[in-house]
Amino acid sequence: MIVAWARWAPLDEFGGIDVVLQRIGPALSAFPRGARLPDPAWNFRHRLILLFALVSAGAVTGFSLFQQTPLVEALVQGAIPAAMVLVAWKAPFGRRFSSSLSSAALMAIAAMIVHISGTIEAHFLFFVLVPVVALYEDWAPLATASLLVLGHHALFGVLAPAHVYNHEDALDHPIKWSLIHSALFLVMCATSIVHWTIHERARREEIILHDRLATQALHDPLTGLANRTLLHDRLTQALSLSQRSKAPVMVIAVDIDGFKPVNDSYGHAAGDTLLIELARRLESCIRGGDTAARNGGDEFTLLLPGTALDEAPAMAERILKAVSPPVHLLGVELEIRVSIGISVSSPGSHREVLLHEADQAMYSAKHNGRGGYVIFDTSLAAGALGTMAVHPDHARAWAQYTQHLRTEIASAKDLGRIPEQSRGPETVRRTLESIIAAIHQLPQGQQTAGLVLPERNALEEFVFHHDLVQHWADTLRADSIVKAERSAAADLFWLALRRTAIRDESGTPANPGAEGNSFHVDSAPA
Ligand code: GH3
Ligand code: MG
Repeated sequence: MIVAWARWAPLDEFGGIDVVLQRIGPALSAFPRGARLPDPAWNFRHRLILLFALVSAGAVTGFSLFQQTPLVEALVQGAIPAAMVLVAWKAPFGRRFSSSLSSAALMAIAAMIVHISGTIEAHFLFFVLVPVVALYEDWAPLATASLLVLGHHALFGVLAPAHVYNHEDALDHPIKWSLIHSALFLVMCATSIVHWTIHERARREEIILHDRLATQALHDPLTGLANRTLLHDRLTQALSLSQRSKAPVMVIAVDIDGFKPVNDSYGHAAGDTLLIELARRLESCIRGGDTAARNGGDEFTLLLPGTALDEAPAMAERILKAVSPPVHLLGVELEIRVSIGISVSSPGSHREVLLHEADQAMYSAKHNGRGGYVIFDTSLAAGALGTMAVHPDHARAWAQYTQHLRTEIASAKDLGRIPEQSRGPETVRRTLESIIAAIHQLPQGQQTAGLVLPERNALEEFVFHHDLVQHWADTLRADSIVKAERSAAADLFWLALRRTAIRDESGTPANPGAEGNSFHVDSAPA
């Protein structure tokens, strides 16, 4: 109604209430909002202020007795603020009521001391207590204190000056002294508000910074999608909810086909633009409550809780359609093609297994010619090579050599001794990491142990690339660019792994005469 009146009123001459609100809006934002203290901070300050008030209430009685006041009267003088403190301690009607009551108790204490001492100097107590009240960082207690003090000084001080002041000039000129006292009190309020404003702003900035850091920690900086940590967290939650609801969870792995050539031909910035565009397109394929994540490189994962296996083909088609329109970049039209792997949870599914299955399906889509999708089923798992019996020390020697080599190659790239682009496919890097992780799991002090192998196609691709890497490393060592040397033990492990990977379809090792005959494959390929 007020706003309606204001629209009709002569304010319209100035452009109406909206313009007025627009004008005063920025000015109001300079003031603190109040009531922004977090509960623990408010409780701590409230208890401290009340303890201070309680001790002061005791001091009122003591001071009153010292001034020869009769015992009962002195006790009543202390009991009034003490009773207010006890009510405020219980906080019966919320924070604002309790802080206002505690503020009133403090002002009552100052008024008692003024009254008992009868000196003009005691009025300073009102000013001294303002910063204490301002510790609540809220308008309600500050307004309570102001109303009490200004009412006492401005109203009583003018109407009945003898009750408020005890010196002659004030009795002769009550208005002048009311104004002096009120002005001083308001100055104290203003300085306290400045402190409170600074604290409130600092806290707000802290919250903004905290939120920003939390967002950064859980999101991919390039595309703004969830990162691996957030994806894992959401997938864990989705799986535990699906245990109760029995609704399955779908995981979709998406990897760009032939992304490296885009970087190589058009530059890293163009590659980044393509990744951002793909992220937007993937987001357009999912609903609220689903998650789109970038795992790093050109790998993305979609998490769709409550989505069943029969929806997988439609979902894959939707992604392929969303991805297919060409992207205009640097004056050329670039086609994005992706390979998609889909896995759907069954009761008791584990997070890592589900992610691994989606990856496995995605690799299968790559090996089927790229640009399509594969839905995981157990026949894909049958393509895994299972475990291979290895000598753990030999495997560890190879892992150590490989990690050492990677570090040396990375620093040689940093120093510009090797071109930056000399990097293997992401799939190969991931396979290497999974093999090294499996080697780290091998038991200590045993002659043989079962090493878990990656999926057949991934292992084949890895062995092909890593053979080249090892030959390359040999030439780099000959040129003194790297120092890492493969030990005989590391060689034994590599030859056995190589032989396992390149068995022909009949299961016969392609190179039966190779070294490391003590190794064998536990579960032969299908
Ligand atoms: P495939 O078809 O087998 O998937 O091979 P690909 O050419 O797509 O290459 P791959 O997936 O093996 O490697 C992904 C490349 O993505 C490797 C790396 O150079 C590049 N890359 C990783 N992170 C970024 C990034 O943040 N920005 C850009 N522009 N490129 C990245
Ligand atoms: Mg790729």
